[in-house]
Amino acid sequence: MRAAEAAGRSRSMVAKGSEAVKKALAAIPGLEVEPGAPLAPLTTLRIGGPAELLVTVNTQRSLMALLRLVRERGVPLHLLGMGSNVLYPDRGVAGVVARLGGVFARTRLLGDRLRAGGAVPLPKLARSTAAHGLTGLEAFSGFPSSVGGAVVMNAGCYGTEIKDVLVSVTAIDRDGRRRRYRPPDLEAGYRRTVLQGTGAVVASGTFQIGVADSNLLMRWRDQNPAAPVKPVFIVYNRAPYAIIARKSRGFAVPKDLEGKRLGAPTGSASSAQWPLFAHLNGIDPAKVKIESVGIPVRDPMLAAGQIDAITAFAFRSYIDLKDRGVPVNDLVVWRMMDYGLQVYGNAIIVNDKFATENPQAVAGFLAAFLRGLRDTVADPAAAVASVVRRNEVARREVELERLRMALRENILTPEVRANGFGGVDAARLQTAIDQQALIFKFKAKPTPAQAFDASFLPPAEERKLN
Ligand SMILES: Cc1cc2nc3c(=O)[nH]c(=O)nc-3n(C[C@H](O)[C@H](O)[C@H](O)COP(=O)(O)OP(=O)(O)OC[C@H]3O[C@@H](n4cnc5c(N)ncnc54)[C@H](O)[C@@H]3O)c2cc1C
Repeated sequence: MRAAEAAGRSRSMVAKGSEAVKKALAAIPGLEVEPGAPLAPLTTLRIGGPAELLVTVNTQRSLMALLRLVRERGVPLHLLGMGSNVLYPDRGVAGVVARLGGVFARTRLLGDRLRAGGAVPLPKLARSTAAHGLTGLEAFSGFPSSVGGAVVMNAGCYGTEIKDVLVSVTAIDRDGRRRRYRPPDLEAGYRRTVLQGTGAVVASGTFQIGVADSNLLMRWRDQNPAAPVKPVFIVYNRAPYAIIARKSRGFAVPKDLEGKRLGAPTGSASSAQWPLFAHLNGIDPAKVKIESVGIPVRDPMLAAGQIDAITAFAFRSYIDLKDRGVPVNDLVVWRMMDYGLQVYGNAIIVNDKFATENPQAVAGFLAAFLRGLRDTVADPAAAVASVVRRNEVARREVELERLRMALRENILTPEVRANGFGGVDAARLQTAIDQQALIFKFKAKPTPAQAFDASFLPPAEERKLN
């Protein structure tokens, strides 16, 4: 989302440069240029203003020409895939938003391999491979991504990452030159590749510190033992995973899910824990019909009765459903942590190499984050006000209620009150790992010390609540 926001902030509009840019683009065969085209319909969240110029790129030659032209004339460029991981500002995006079409939307069978253009949706590709008797992409059959968007961030779900199934990638660099990458050249890591931040077709950055679900990360590290990322600060001491259903549709206890339709977004952290919830609560998963719904449509579908229940972070969907007018006394929220799960939730993660080379930067970041967290706890309204200032679609009252719920249920837990922010209880983490092992076949089950690195945390005294 950073790239689109950055493009939106830019003041170097094409119009200020000259009408000549539009004319030059329009003159390139293979490009379709639409000034002022709305971007909202092209994104999953369906929000955001227009592109100054929306350019559909239909051929390799026109892509090369476009890249050279925007570079020479200093025109901001943002490449759009299926729009599932971008958020455009309401004021619109300056410069060019380019999307791939034409030859990039085709697949071609080459013996036992399939060549797919950057615009091909992954679910379509997964269906094509299956139809040709090829394997490897099954995990992506409901995945909301284009091939290009998935390759560039090494997308992954259910233990499969794009880098695992790739033979090679062809990319056009920012000078308009074609370059072939084999998987090792991509230096793929957790949701990143060297293609990010190259300034060619990708305008986003590479991050050294981020936030991720600690359980999905544990699985991913097991699949990728050389994985260069590790969790260093637990943010959600109690994971917010939940099953949310409507009482009026016959739900009283979790077992009532049998025979019903559960909307579970593919690859989401809550969906990944559904098998454990079912296992611990005597639910036969074979009797529950899983519908792979997109996150943006999950709550509306439950509100409209198109599905019976959903997997979700409690503070996300409970607040959104309430905001949609669903009567709260008709909502049943089964927080998985109340039903046997003992796992931790989202954590701050760091890149190993960066952390080894810059331990003080990581420790400093965690100290600063802790200070921000304390300020948030002390004054949630001020914290929300600062978010709302930066996010035009967020509404103060809704976000304040959500933040208070997250603080109450997931952050200010009895364990945090006793031991302070950020750390783990080794015995509980061991149980959490054992629980993951019930639903995930580890190649090498991690120890608590391998699953969490406490060495960058501020001293225990400084992490105490008061
Ligand atoms: C419901 C839902 C579930 C999700 N689950 C997962 C998950 O389990 N695992 C996961 O990894 N992600 C997940 N995501 C995030 C998202 O699906 C991925 O980031 C996806 O790979 C983005 O692809 P896209 O085509 O939609 O790209 P966009 O969102 O359009 O763009 C994302 C970034 O990729 C760049 N880009 C797009 N196409 C190209 C290209 N051809 N060449 C170079 N750069 C390009 C864009 O410039 C942008 O920086 C989920 C998203 C949603 C909405």
